[in-house]
Amino acid sequence: MKTTKAKIIDGKAFSHQLNQSLIPIVKKVIGEIGRPPALAVILVGEDSASQIYVHNKAKRTQEAGMKSVEHRLSSETSEKTLLDLVTALNEDNEIDGILVQLPLPKHINEHSVIQAINPEKDVDGFHIVNAGKLATGRSELVPCTPLGCLLLLRDTLGDLSGLHAVIIGRSNIVGKPLAQLLLAENTTVTIVHSKTKNISEITTQADILIVAVGQSELVKSDWIKPGACIIDVGINRIADLEKGKGKYRLVGDVDFLEVAQKAQFITPVPGGVGPMTISCLLRNTVAAAAKRNGVEIKLK
Ligand code: NDP
Repeated sequence: MKTTKAKIIDGKAFSHQLNQSLIPIVKKVIGEIGRPPALAVILVGEDSASQIYVHNKAKRTQEAGMKSVEHRLSSETSEKTLLDLVTALNEDNEIDGILVQLPLPKHINEHSVIQAINPEKDVDGFHIVNAGKLATGRSELVPCTPLGCLLLLRDTLGDLSGLHAVIIGRSNIVGKPLAQLLLAENTTVTIVHSKTKNISEITTQADILIVAVGQSELVKSDWIKPGACIIDVGINRIADLEKGKGKYRLVGDVDFLEVAQKAQFITPVPGGVGPMTISCLLRNTVAAAAKRNGVEIKLK
């Protein structure tokens, strides 16, 4: 087996530190408002990956001293029923954060549901109001995965000013908000996507390469600049032939073994960006609780 030259960015350890650092902040909020910050998570349907994500989110929320309220609805739930639940949670003064686990069943309009969430409780940061605030430099609740990527980059590289960051992928939940966050750090940002010509000519100029595509091991070592910092957001389930029929393993969008020979820093999958996403959700929940209740807190 090849040895890895790059330093592996341990998102799991960093997210653990971040979660621990939130505990005294949560205690301060509890002291001032007399109850724990509360996160309501809505899951519609039985998608197995979503069920695991929701379970992990609830577990980590409680470990940080906050309250988790789960609403599990059947896949036949109508859009109106879901919107009514969102409205009820918006009006519930003891709920600080609302998260609707995506994807939703096809008969429900995701956009309508997300826009129905009170922006002050939109801990996923997907509401147009929060997207607009981020784009205009007045960010409050920022999408969790991009925020997790930024925290990992700051921890690994320190000052990001003047570096060239290339992001592969332009989704509203990862690529676009991450570009805004990196611009605010004074990096030079390029976004590439499925219609970009000669992608590797652009990615080989990147000091920082962030990949959020959803295609197993798409990025090979000839796509990267020697010594680059690679953040792999992708989570792809592929058949694990060594473990046998019906068994799967997770891989990222980056060919880890190959790219790790050339990069200086790289996130693994699993154990890189994934755990940071949940930490940032906790961070947003305590931030929402503090802001709604006029409690001053300082987050890193
Ligand atoms: P989307 O499908 O919404 O977006 C994918 C993006 O990749 C699009 O902009 C698309 O381009 C681009 N793309 C597709 N194929 C190529 C290609 N061959 N070359 C260049 N660009 C391409 O995905 P998400 O942003 O929601 O998620 C991306 C990945 O990140 C997924 O694997 C997902 O599971 C993972 N993820 C992980 C999270 C975590 O916590 N670690 C959280 C969220 C997502 P175009 O716009 O032109 O179609």
